[in-house]
Amino acid sequence: MIQERLHNVLDSLTPGCRLVAVSKYHPAEAILACYNEGQRVFGESHEQEIRQKHELLPKDIEWHFIGHLQTNKVKYIAPYIDMVEACDSLKLMKEIEKHAAKNNRVIKVLLELHIAEEESKYGLSLDDCRRLLADGEWRDMQHVSICGLMMMASNTDDEEQIRREFTVAADFFDEVKAEYFADDDNFRERSWGMSSDFKIAMQCRSTMVRVGTYIFGERQY
Ligand SMILES: *Cc1c(COP(=O)(O)O)cnc(C)c1O
Repeated sequence: MIQERLHNVLDSLTPGCRLVAVSKYHPAEAILACYNEGQRVFGESHEQEIRQKHELLPKDIEWHFIGHLQTNKVKYIAPYIDMVEACDSLKLMKEIEKHAAKNNRVIKVLLELHIAEEESKYGLSLDDCRRLLADGEWRDMQHVSICGLMMMASNTDDEEQIRREFTVAADFFDEVKAEYFADDDNFRERSWGMSSDFKIAMQCRSTMVRVGTYIFGERQY
């Protein structure tokens, strides 16, 4: 059952690593079951679904938007979203800044990297990420707080490949931290690891694992 699987994950977290319980496509009752066990951070990836759940559920839940976020959807989540985990363009970051400012709040973001071998439209290459940071426009954003990096490893059974990809991300975190965020304590998150690979991710210095299926079971689409 959900409570037991939640505690399995919580008990296996390494010190300094938090759980984002990925509740997309699961009902509000499933979220409440975790909430009642003390879990407060939940990840969703669709604007309408997260809106409905936000309205229905306790207000001290920290909602993370973990999927691809279209710029025209930012305004809907800006009043309450705690973190946008998959920020992969300056355009999206500017839109988050604009709507966070309108709501007089600061929204945390992670820069999404594309390291996996799979084709994906989303995520910054390491060089794109370097360019975005070197460009410096983000420094003027008072309502966006860049808190770290996020990525997904390849969907493969090859554990060594997964480990290599997480290690590339962890090394890149150190590079960026030293170059741009050495004095910024907010930049500290390494969001990697899902149901199939969160144990490997924690060995590769993840500070945030995003686990859905392992806790809630298969998603009902
Ligand atoms: C759905 C999703 C997860 C959770 O995946 P599970 O395999 O169900 O644990 C994690 N991260 C992102 C970005 C997702 O979209």
